[in-house]
Amino acid sequence: MIKINENYLKLASSYLFVEIARRVAAFQERNPDREIIRLGIGDVTRPLPPACVEALRAAAAEMGEPSGFRGYGPEQGYGFLRERIAGSDYQARGVDVDADEIFISDGSKCDTGNIQELFAGDIAIAVPDPVYPVYVDTNVMAGRTGKFADGRYGGLVYLEGNSANGFVPAPPAGAHADLIYLCFPNNPTGSVATKEQLKAWVDYAKAEKALILFDAAYEAFIADPFVPHSIYEIEGAREVAIEFRSFSKTAGFTGTRCAFTVIPKSCAAFDAAGAAHPLHALWNRRHSTKFNGVSYPVQRAAEAVYIGEGPAQVRETIAYYMANAALIKAQMGALGYRCTGGVNAPYIWIECGSGSWEFFDMLLNDAGVVCTPGAGFGRCGEGFIRISAFNSRENVEKALSMIGAAVKK
Ligand SMILES: *Cc1c(COP(=O)(O)O)cnc(C)c1O
Repeated sequence: MIKINENYLKLASSYLFVEIARRVAAFQERNPDREIIRLGIGDVTRPLPPACVEALRAAAAEMGEPSGFRGYGPEQGYGFLRERIAGSDYQARGVDVDADEIFISDGSKCDTGNIQELFAGDIAIAVPDPVYPVYVDTNVMAGRTGKFADGRYGGLVYLEGNSANGFVPAPPAGAHADLIYLCFPNNPTGSVATKEQLKAWVDYAKAEKALILFDAAYEAFIADPFVPHSIYEIEGAREVAIEFRSFSKTAGFTGTRCAFTVIPKSCAAFDAAGAAHPLHALWNRRHSTKFNGVSYPVQRAAEAVYIGEGPAQVRETIAYYMANAALIKAQMGALGYRCTGGVNAPYIWIECGSGSWEFFDMLLNDAGVVCTPGAGFGRCGEGFIRISAFNSRENVEKALSMIGAAVKK
């Protein structure tokens, strides 16, 4: 008899975006003539930077010529891209990361989801609440949690984010964790951590012989000069942290697929006898066994983010989204809602003064606007909603005027 992995049965059943889609479809059916503006799902809307499109075209043409054709590339990614990343994203900011510490992949969702394969089944895992659901769900699938009850899985250490800590949880005093997920700028709250706050985490990881998994998918949206772009700006992080970045939100690659993971050679985890093993070698083994590389044209498109007109085009798109974010933050603030985010991240996290789903239904029914209920990101998200800046200016302005009218009703 073929048996299933029963850990999958523990997964909380109502997946957030499925439930949102169900409610939106029901509303549309009741109101076939009403316009709906979607500020919910975290997907980009602006087209690829022209420099990336040009690079894709040129690389596709190369692949069609006997002299330019390429078969399997290096599983870790082409040197041309890894060197650009190391140079532009790290060394140019004074951060010590080498090209061969970078693994190119087809997405940070996969990388943040797959990395847990390197660790033992009985480790203690700390995860922020609220946060991107992939970290928790992949550990549930791997059997590292108990059952789901009251919005939480047994066996996890939840790091609570709230207005008091600005949605930047501190290391848990007196509690041990072996593996710590952090995401800054944060999805869904848009919060950012200062150097001092990240240093507290690095010090905690050292003291606990733990490892930090740092998801920096929204790094490109950081505007304030005091906000660190990389965990490796913190002294000592090269021993205790892995960093994930993606071209998805940076350069509109959600449908093109390219990301990377940084594993410093000095970063280790331990066997049962306490001997240290470099994680770079383990991940290299895993990656080259289960992954065959990102396509050549896509890696050339990612390279274009760093050269010629690419950087300016990327900055322009990000500035467009961030102008949306500023409008959303200003309008929701003017309506009396307390907001986090929207300055160094494309998300505005809004304290709605009622249940997340109630407020979601009110915005949908009275304004025709789709947001994301905070409760979908963890128990601490209850009472909040997330509004995304990924849309056209026109839609954002229309949505804000509809929300204004609905709220004053
Ligand atoms: C969008 C997002 C990613 C990126 O995922 P890709 O698979 O690279 O598209 C990673 N982490 C967070 C928190 C995100 O919101």
